[in-house]
Amino acid sequence: MHAFIDPLRVVVAGGGVAAAEAVLALRAHAGERVEIELVAPQPRFALRPGSTVALFGDVAAQSFDLAALAAHVGATLWEDHLEAVAPAAHRIRLASGVRRGYDVLVLALGARARAALPGALTFRDQRDAAQLRRAVEELRRGQLRRLAVSVPPGVAWTLPAYELALLAAAEVQRLGLATAVTLVTPEGSALDVFGDPVSAHVSALLAHKSVDLLLETAPRRVDRGGLRLDGGSSLPADRVIAVPALVGQPIAGLPAGSCGFVQTRADGLVDGVADVYAAGDMTSFPVKQGGLAAQQADAVAVAIARRAGADPPLAPSTIQLRTQLFGAPTPLFLEATLDARGHPLEGRSQHSSSAPWWPSGTLFGRHVTPWMAEQAIAAGGAPSVG
Ligand SMILES: Cc1cc2nc3c(=O)[nH]c(=O)nc-3n(C[C@H](O)[C@H](O)[C@H](O)COP(=O)(O)OP(=O)(O)OC[C@H]3O[C@@H](n4cnc5c(N)ncnc54)[C@H](O)[C@@H]3O)c2cc1C
Repeated sequence: MHAFIDPLRVVVAGGGVAAAEAVLALRAHAGERVEIELVAPQPRFALRPGSTVALFGDVAAQSFDLAALAAHVGATLWEDHLEAVAPAAHRIRLASGVRRGYDVLVLALGARARAALPGALTFRDQRDAAQLRRAVEELRRGQLRRLAVSVPPGVAWTLPAYELALLAAAEVQRLGLATAVTLVTPEGSALDVFGDPVSAHVSALLAHKSVDLLLETAPRRVDRGGLRLDGGSSLPADRVIAVPALVGQPIAGLPAGSCGFVQTRADGLVDGVADVYAAGDMTSFPVKQGGLAAQQADAVAVAIARRAGADPPLAPSTIQLRTQLFGAPTPLFLEATLDARGHPLEGRSQHSSSAPWWPSGTLFGRHVTPWMAEQAIAAGGAPSVG
């Protein structure tokens, strides 16, 4: 006879990639051993990866319904905001004033994007689309002689800057404009988080598209003289677009580390706090990326499932970084394996013209991207993500 064991009550807070992967992976790994509640402030979540392409064409970034996700995994969805955690009492307080208990809490709250280059036009994501579209129109009308795309110091995911530079350069070529496009970045090599072969390939691609690449160069501010660089020199520019820096979102009752990010152990448990896990952009891991957020969430789900008595295999200690780079003339998929500190492992970096993973697209999560692909197919679209 089996002894009846109460399911673990797991509350997942957040409504992005990490939260979606967490609830799907929890159900997949732990089955009915967990009861899942999802606390998310909005009913849908929009993917950011496609937001760069959407500026230049008549396409919308994909978005997904959290109620459908909750129904799919049998979770309860609360449209609310987590405000505070009382770890000793295992209780949370929501913005609505409601207080709820938990056995295990999973935080997937993302990060706040903030402008880090004074005077530049900062592109966070679709929220800044209207301003950026005006800059694209200036470009198309031939009003920009020199366009600079900049990565301020401390940016944890530089890929959108490469996409913006390549997409702008493609527009310059298509319309036969004379605009010079420059990409300014403190990185030591192009998209250096992916390691050597990818960096060399992306450098060659930028050169082929006539994008000047200024490496190891930190932009400081934009003024009438153009883009001021570290060391005092400046780059003439009529328009400077920058990607944002990220800061964490401190939650009352929980410790926050440098820049507000939460420090976690390898299995995602928040340092010094029992039964609270964190995944995704809100953690102190130095690279912030959707696929990576999903892998962290999956590892958290594995750890919780094992606590609940299930026996899924342990998550790998390395991280797969996978994406599609928009703006290349033909599809370009990039992949690297990162170590536990976020550094690319030698010999584990590659680029290809077809995705080595399924569903193909800009981000990959073991459970969340197949679910997104199913949603896209059900809505009559293609099974790609991003
Ligand atoms: C322009 C751009 C392009 C990108 N391209 C790629 C790419 O090609 N591939 C890739 O993998 N990644 C890409 N990224 C990065 C990727 O979007 C992020 O790394 C990813 O979204 C992080 O997921 P997350 O779940 O940790 O955070 P988010 O996706 O930011 O989700 C956080 C969620 O938590 C919710 N939340 C916040 N506070 C609270 C609270 N107090 N209570 C409850 N909920 C709360 C938010 O509303 C949100 O729903 C790109 C990002 C940008 C900006």
